[in-house]
Amino acid sequence: MSQALQEEVAEVFSCPKCQKALRRMARKNDPTVFFWGCTGYQDGCDFVCDDDDGKPFLARCPECGEVLSRKISSKTGRVYVACFNKEKHSDHDVHFFSDDGTPQVKKEYPKAKGEFLCPECHQPLLYRTITKGRFAGQKNIFLCPNKEGHKSKATLFFDDVDGRPNFVQGDA
Ligand SMILES: [Zn+2]
Ligand SMILES: [Zn+2]
Ligand SMILES: [Zn+2]
Repeated sequence: MSQALQEEVAEVFSCPKCQKALRRMARKNDPTVFFWGCTGYQDGCDFVCDDDDGKPFLARCPECGEVLSRKISSKTGRVYVACFNKEKHSDHDVHFFSDDGTPQVKKEYPKAKGEFLCPECHQPLLYRTITKGRFAGQKNIFLCPNKEGHKSKATLFFDDVDGRPNFVQGDA
């Protein structure tokens, strides 16, 4: 942490770990990217966080309590906020948040009313929300991805009628 890279900041932000002042610094490998580190690092405080337009980004993950990462995607130039603390999450996955740190609602699939078997291969049908096309997000569908078990060698789809698959559709 070089003194020369320190930025002038009017407002003082204190470290959530040790209450000493935080300091805004540019990354050595990319001086256009800023982050915040604790001035108490010589006393053993390792707190660092990302920059949010000149302020330390201190929003925390509601599940594991860690300070969230706020990065700018080098591909899209868009800000993304995430917690990469996978092993502390119940689903062992990265959690994503809105720019301001509010949790992004994870897509929850609705529950089917019971388990239904594929009429051709007798595998349990999956119940999904359509995520592409005209009915994206508005319509649920039952499907059997077991292509090999079907005469048509294709995934079979069944319309959802109030949580149950409609087996008497089309030419089935
Ligand atoms: Zn500190
Ligand atoms: Zn987390
Ligand atoms: Zn099937």
